[in-house]
Amino acid sequence: MRYEGQIFRPFSEANSYLLQATIGCSHNRCTFCGMYKKKKYRVRSMQEIKEDIQMAWEYHGDLEKVFICDGDAIAMETHQLLEILNTLYQTFPSLRHVGSYVGPCSTLSKSNSELKELREAGLVKVYLGVETGDDRILQEVKKGVSSEEMLEAGRKLVDSGFNLTAMVLLGLAGKGSRSREHALATADIINRIKPKYLAAMTVTPVPGTVLHQQVQKGEFQVLDAFETLEEMKIIFENITVDNLKFVGAHASNYLPIQGTLPRDKQKMLDTVEMVLRNREHRYLRAEDMRGL
Ligand code: SF4
Repeated sequence: MRYEGQIFRPFSEANSYLLQATIGCSHNRCTFCGMYKKKKYRVRSMQEIKEDIQMAWEYHGDLEKVFICDGDAIAMETHQLLEILNTLYQTFPSLRHVGSYVGPCSTLSKSNSELKELREAGLVKVYLGVETGDDRILQEVKKGVSSEEMLEAGRKLVDSGFNLTAMVLLGLAGKGSRSREHALATADIINRIKPKYLAAMTVTPVPGTVLHQQVQKGEFQVLDAFETLEEMKIIFENITVDNLKFVGAHASNYLPIQGTLPRDKQKMLDTVEMVLRNREHRYLRAEDMRGL
Protein backbone atom coordinates (compact mmCIF):
# COMPACT_ATOMS: atom_id res chain seq x y z
CA MET A 1 0.00 0.00 0.00
CA ARG A 2 2.09 2.79 -1.30
CA TYR A 3 0.40 6.07 -2.08
CA GLU A 4 1.62 9.05 -4.01
CA GLY A 5 0.31 12.46 -2.88
CA GLN A 6 -3.10 13.11 -1.36
CA ILE A 7 -5.75 10.49 -2.02
CA PHE A 8 -9.43 11.30 -2.55
CA ARG A 9 -12.38 8.96 -2.53
CA PRO A 10 -16.17 9.36 -2.42
CA PHE A 11 -17.90 9.41 0.97
CA SER A 12 -19.54 6.04 0.24
CA GLU A 13 -16.17 4.35 -0.34
CA ALA A 14 -15.07 4.92 3.26
CA ASN A 15 -14.78 1.16 3.84
CA SER A 16 -13.07 0.36 0.57
CA TYR A 17 -9.43 -0.52 0.13
CA LEU A 18 -7.97 2.27 -2.02
CA LEU A 19 -5.87 1.01 -4.90
CA GLN A 20 -3.93 3.77 -6.64
CA ALA A 21 -3.76 2.64 -10.24
CA THR A 22 -3.27 6.06 -11.80
CA ILE A 23 -1.65 9.17 -10.44
CA GLY A 24 -3.75 12.33 -10.78
CA CYS A 25 -6.49 13.12 -13.28
CA SER A 26 -6.12 12.75 -17.04
CA HIS A 27 -8.10 15.98 -17.55
CA ASN A 28 -6.97 18.10 -14.58
CA ARG A 29 -8.29 21.35 -16.04
CA CYS A 30 -11.57 22.02 -14.23
CA THR A 31 -11.38 25.54 -12.80
CA PHE A 32 -12.98 24.61 -9.46
CA CYS A 33 -10.95 21.47 -8.75
CA GLY A 34 -7.70 21.46 -6.81
CA MET A 35 -7.57 17.75 -6.05
CA TYR A 36 -4.81 16.74 -8.41
CA LYS A 37 -3.17 20.05 -9.26
CA LYS A 38 0.15 18.90 -7.83
CA LYS A 39 0.17 15.63 -9.75
CA LYS A 40 1.11 14.97 -13.36
CA TYR A 41 -1.18 12.28 -14.74
CA ARG A 42 0.32 8.87 -15.37
CA VAL A 43 -0.65 5.24 -15.14
CA ARG A 44 1.33 3.23 -12.58
CA SER A 45 3.14 0.19 -13.86
CA MET A 46 1.20 -3.07 -13.76
CA GLN A 47 3.96 -4.56 -11.67
CA GLU A 48 3.57 -1.87 -8.98
CA ILE A 49 -0.23 -2.20 -9.03
CA LYS A 50 -0.04 -5.98 -8.62
CA GLU A 51 2.52 -5.62 -5.84
CA ASP A 52 0.09 -3.27 -4.04
CA ILE A 53 -2.75 -5.78 -4.44
CA GLN A 54 -0.52 -8.47 -2.95
CA MET A 55 0.46 -6.15 -0.08
CA ALA A 56 -3.24 -5.43 0.57
CA TRP A 57 -3.93 -9.18 0.74
CA GLU A 58 -1.06 -9.69 3.19
CA TYR A 59 -2.14 -6.75 5.35
CA HIS A 60 -5.97 -6.92 5.23
CA GLY A 61 -6.66 -10.50 4.14
CA ASP A 62 -9.83 -10.97 2.12
CA LEU A 63 -11.62 -7.78 1.04
CA GLU A 64 -15.18 -6.98 -0.05
CA LYS A 65 -14.75 -3.47 -1.42
CA VAL A 66 -12.05 -1.77 -3.49
CA PHE A 67 -11.95 1.75 -4.91
CA ILE A 68 -9.55 2.40 -7.78
CA CYS A 69 -7.87 5.81 -7.52
CA ASP A 70 -6.89 8.49 -8.55
CA GLY A 71 -9.19 10.88 -10.35
CA ASP A 72 -10.11 9.08 -13.51
CA ALA A 73 -8.99 5.44 -13.57
CA ILE A 74 -11.19 4.69 -16.56
CA ALA A 75 -8.70 6.70 -18.63
CA MET A 76 -6.41 3.66 -18.52
CA GLU A 77 -6.33 1.35 -21.49
CA THR A 78 -9.24 -1.08 -21.22
CA HIS A 79 -6.98 -4.14 -21.24
CA GLN A 80 -5.02 -2.70 -18.28
CA LEU A 81 -8.17 -2.11 -16.26
CA LEU A 82 -9.41 -5.60 -17.10
CA GLU A 83 -6.12 -7.04 -15.89
CA ILE A 84 -6.45 -5.12 -12.61
CA LEU A 85 -10.07 -6.22 -12.13
CA ASN A 86 -9.19 -9.86 -12.83
CA THR A 87 -6.28 -9.73 -10.38
CA LEU A 88 -8.47 -8.16 -7.70
CA TYR A 89 -11.24 -10.77 -8.03
CA GLN A 90 -8.70 -13.61 -8.11
CA THR A 91 -6.92 -12.28 -5.02
CA PHE A 92 -9.97 -11.48 -2.89
CA PRO A 93 -12.62 -14.25 -3.01
CA SER A 94 -15.16 -12.11 -1.09
CA LEU A 95 -14.80 -9.08 -3.37
CA ARG A 96 -18.23 -7.83 -4.44
CA HIS A 97 -17.67 -4.14 -5.20
CA VAL A 98 -15.07 -2.24 -7.21
CA GLY A 99 -15.63 1.47 -7.72
CA SER A 100 -13.90 4.29 -9.58
CA TYR A 101 -14.26 7.93 -10.55
CA VAL A 102 -14.85 8.29 -14.28
CA GLY A 103 -14.25 11.44 -16.33
CA PRO A 104 -16.67 12.26 -19.16
CA CYS A 105 -13.92 12.48 -21.82
CA SER A 106 -12.44 9.11 -20.81
CA THR A 107 -15.89 7.54 -20.74
CA LEU A 108 -16.62 8.81 -24.25
CA SER A 109 -13.30 7.44 -25.47
CA LYS A 110 -14.48 3.90 -24.63
CA SER A 111 -16.80 1.96 -26.90
CA ASN A 112 -20.04 0.54 -25.51
CA SER A 113 -18.59 -2.96 -25.74
CA GLU A 114 -15.48 -1.91 -23.75
CA LEU A 115 -17.67 -0.42 -21.03
CA LYS A 116 -19.80 -3.56 -20.91
CA GLU A 117 -16.65 -5.68 -20.70
CA LEU A 118 -15.44 -3.62 -17.73
CA ARG A 119 -18.82 -3.94 -16.04
CA GLU A 120 -18.85 -7.69 -16.59
CA ALA A 121 -15.30 -7.93 -15.21
CA GLY A 122 -16.58 -6.45 -11.96
CA LEU A 123 -16.26 -2.67 -12.11
CA VAL A 124 -19.55 -2.10 -10.36
CA LYS A 125 -19.87 1.48 -9.24
CA VAL A 126 -18.74 4.62 -11.03
CA TYR A 127 -18.84 8.27 -10.01
CA LEU A 128 -19.22 10.84 -12.80
CA GLY A 129 -18.68 14.56 -12.13
CA VAL A 130 -21.60 15.96 -14.11
CA GLU A 131 -21.37 19.26 -12.19
CA THR A 132 -24.16 21.01 -14.17
CA GLY A 133 -26.41 20.51 -17.14
CA ASP A 134 -25.76 24.06 -18.32
CA ASP A 135 -23.68 24.09 -21.50
CA ARG A 136 -22.20 27.55 -20.94
CA ILE A 137 -21.12 26.77 -17.38
CA LEU A 138 -19.53 23.48 -18.46
CA GLN A 139 -17.50 25.47 -20.97
CA GLU A 140 -16.57 28.18 -18.45
CA VAL A 141 -15.36 25.66 -15.86
CA LYS A 142 -13.39 23.83 -18.57
CA LYS A 143 -15.00 20.47 -17.97
CA GLY A 144 -13.89 19.38 -21.42
CA VAL A 145 -17.33 18.35 -22.71
CA SER A 146 -20.60 19.98 -23.76
CA SER A 147 -23.85 19.17 -21.97
CA GLU A 148 -24.81 16.85 -24.86
CA GLU A 149 -21.50 15.00 -24.49
CA MET A 150 -21.96 14.81 -20.72
CA LEU A 151 -25.41 13.35 -21.29
CA GLU A 152 -23.97 10.83 -23.72
CA ALA A 153 -21.25 9.81 -21.24
CA GLY A 154 -23.81 9.38 -18.47
CA ARG A 155 -26.18 7.38 -20.66
CA LYS A 156 -23.35 5.12 -21.87
CA LEU A 157 -22.51 4.27 -18.27
CA VAL A 158 -26.12 3.58 -17.31
CA ASP A 159 -26.76 1.54 -20.46
CA SER A 160 -23.63 -0.52 -19.77
CA GLY A 161 -25.09 -1.55 -16.43
CA PHE A 162 -22.96 0.51 -14.03
CA ASN A 163 -24.33 1.65 -10.73
CA LEU A 164 -23.84 5.36 -11.47
CA THR A 165 -23.50 8.20 -9.01
CA ALA A 166 -23.80 11.56 -10.76
CA MET A 167 -22.10 14.34 -8.83
CA VAL A 168 -23.31 17.94 -9.21
CA LEU A 169 -22.04 21.22 -7.79
CA LEU A 170 -24.40 23.68 -6.15
CA GLY A 171 -23.36 27.28 -6.71
CA LEU A 172 -21.35 26.63 -9.87
CA ALA A 173 -22.95 29.57 -11.70
CA GLY A 174 -22.17 32.01 -8.88
CA LYS A 175 -24.63 34.72 -7.91
CA GLY A 176 -27.31 36.06 -10.22
CA SER A 177 -30.01 34.80 -12.53
CA ARG A 178 -27.82 32.01 -13.87
CA SER A 179 -28.04 30.24 -10.53
CA ARG A 180 -31.64 29.26 -11.33
CA GLU A 181 -30.70 28.25 -14.89
CA HIS A 182 -27.90 26.08 -13.51
CA ALA A 183 -30.28 24.31 -11.11
CA LEU A 184 -32.93 23.75 -13.80
CA ALA A 185 -30.42 22.49 -16.37
CA THR A 186 -28.88 20.21 -13.75
CA ALA A 187 -32.23 18.65 -12.88
CA ASP A 188 -32.87 18.21 -16.59
CA ILE A 189 -29.60 16.41 -17.37
CA ILE A 190 -30.05 14.15 -14.34
CA ASN A 191 -33.58 13.32 -15.53
CA ARG A 192 -32.12 12.27 -18.85
CA ILE A 193 -29.08 10.36 -17.53
CA LYS A 194 -31.18 8.53 -14.92
CA PRO A 195 -28.38 7.58 -12.49
CA LYS A 196 -29.08 5.54 -9.35
CA TYR A 197 -27.52 8.15 -7.07
CA LEU A 198 -27.31 11.92 -7.22
CA ALA A 199 -24.61 13.42 -5.00
CA ALA A 200 -24.66 17.18 -4.48
CA MET A 201 -21.68 19.16 -3.30
CA THR A 202 -21.30 22.91 -2.86
CA VAL A 203 -18.73 25.07 -4.62
CA THR A 204 -15.88 25.88 -2.25
CA PRO A 205 -13.08 27.90 -3.85
CA VAL A 206 -9.80 26.13 -3.15
CA PRO A 207 -6.55 28.16 -3.11
CA GLY A 208 -4.47 27.39 -6.17
CA THR A 209 -7.47 26.91 -8.47
CA VAL A 210 -8.64 29.22 -11.26
CA LEU A 211 -11.96 29.61 -9.46
CA HIS A 212 -10.21 30.88 -6.34
CA GLN A 213 -8.39 33.48 -8.44
CA GLN A 214 -11.69 34.50 -10.06
CA VAL A 215 -13.23 35.00 -6.62
CA GLN A 216 -10.29 37.12 -5.50
CA LYS A 217 -10.53 39.28 -8.62
CA GLY A 218 -14.28 39.72 -8.09
CA GLU A 219 -15.10 37.83 -11.27
CA PHE A 220 -17.04 35.11 -9.46
CA GLN A 221 -19.33 35.66 -6.48
CA VAL A 222 -19.85 32.66 -4.26
CA LEU A 223 -23.44 31.92 -3.22
CA ASP A 224 -24.38 32.21 0.41
CA ALA A 225 -25.84 29.22 2.27
CA PHE A 226 -29.47 30.14 1.54
CA GLU A 227 -28.81 30.70 -2.15
CA THR A 228 -27.32 27.21 -2.43
CA LEU A 229 -30.47 25.87 -0.74
CA GLU A 230 -32.61 27.67 -3.35
CA GLU A 231 -30.71 25.65 -5.99
CA MET A 232 -31.23 22.45 -4.04
CA LYS A 233 -34.96 23.20 -3.82
CA ILE A 234 -35.20 23.74 -7.59
CA ILE A 235 -33.42 20.45 -8.19
CA PHE A 236 -35.79 18.57 -5.84
CA GLU A 237 -38.82 20.18 -7.48
CA ASN A 238 -37.74 19.24 -10.97
CA ILE A 239 -36.27 15.75 -10.64
CA THR A 240 -38.49 13.12 -12.23
CA VAL A 241 -36.18 10.08 -12.03
CA ASP A 242 -37.83 7.22 -10.21
CA ASN A 243 -36.13 5.81 -7.11
CA LEU A 244 -33.19 8.25 -7.23
CA LYS A 245 -31.11 8.24 -4.05
CA PHE A 246 -30.11 11.79 -3.20
CA VAL A 247 -26.87 12.06 -1.23
CA GLY A 248 -26.36 15.49 0.27
CA ALA A 249 -24.27 14.72 3.32
CA HIS A 250 -21.00 15.91 1.77
CA ALA A 251 -19.00 18.16 4.09
CA SER A 252 -19.15 21.06 1.63
CA ASN A 253 -22.96 21.30 1.91
CA TYR A 254 -24.64 23.69 4.31
CA LEU A 255 -27.61 21.40 4.93
CA PRO A 256 -26.86 17.68 5.03
CA ILE A 257 -29.91 16.09 3.49
CA GLN A 258 -30.58 12.59 2.17
CA GLY A 259 -33.55 10.77 0.74
CA THR A 260 -35.04 8.86 -2.13
CA LEU A 261 -36.87 10.75 -4.84
CA PRO A 262 -39.76 10.94 -5.47
CA ARG A 263 -40.75 9.02 -2.31
CA ASP A 264 -39.22 11.55 0.11
CA LYS A 265 -39.59 14.60 -2.12
CA GLN A 266 -42.13 16.44 0.03
CA LYS A 267 -40.21 15.78 3.24
CA MET A 268 -36.97 16.98 1.65
CA LEU A 269 -38.66 20.08 0.22
CA ASP A 270 -40.31 20.83 3.57
CA THR A 271 -36.90 20.72 5.28
CA VAL A 272 -35.28 23.05 2.76
CA GLU A 273 -38.27 25.42 2.76
CA MET A 274 -38.34 25.57 6.55
CA VAL A 275 -34.68 26.62 6.63
CA LEU A 276 -35.22 29.13 3.85
CA ARG A 277 -38.29 30.61 5.54
CA ASN A 278 -36.66 31.02 8.93
CA ARG A 279 -33.26 32.06 7.60
CA GLU A 280 -31.75 30.54 10.69
CA HIS A 281 -28.11 29.56 10.66
CA ARG A 282 -28.57 27.09 13.51
CA TYR A 283 -29.89 24.52 11.01
CA LEU A 284 -26.84 24.90 8.81
CA ARG A 285 -23.37 23.46 8.94
CA ALA A 286 -21.07 26.21 10.24
CA GLU A 287 -18.57 27.66 7.75
CA ASP A 288 -15.63 26.35 9.75
CA MET A 289 -17.13 22.85 9.75
CA ARG A 290 -17.45 22.79 5.98
CA GLY A 291 -14.77 21.16 3.89
CA LEU A 292 -14.04 19.16 0.79
S1 SF4 B 1 -12.27 15.78 -14.16
FE1 SF4 B 1 -12.74 15.61 -11.95
S2 SF4 B 1 -10.79 15.21 -10.95
FE2 SF4 B 1 -10.30 15.91 -13.01
S3 SF4 B 1 -9.97 18.12 -12.81
FE3 SF4 B 1 -12.14 17.84 -13.33
S4 SF4 B 1 -13.23 17.71 -11.36
FE4 SF4 B 1 -11.02 17.41 -10.94
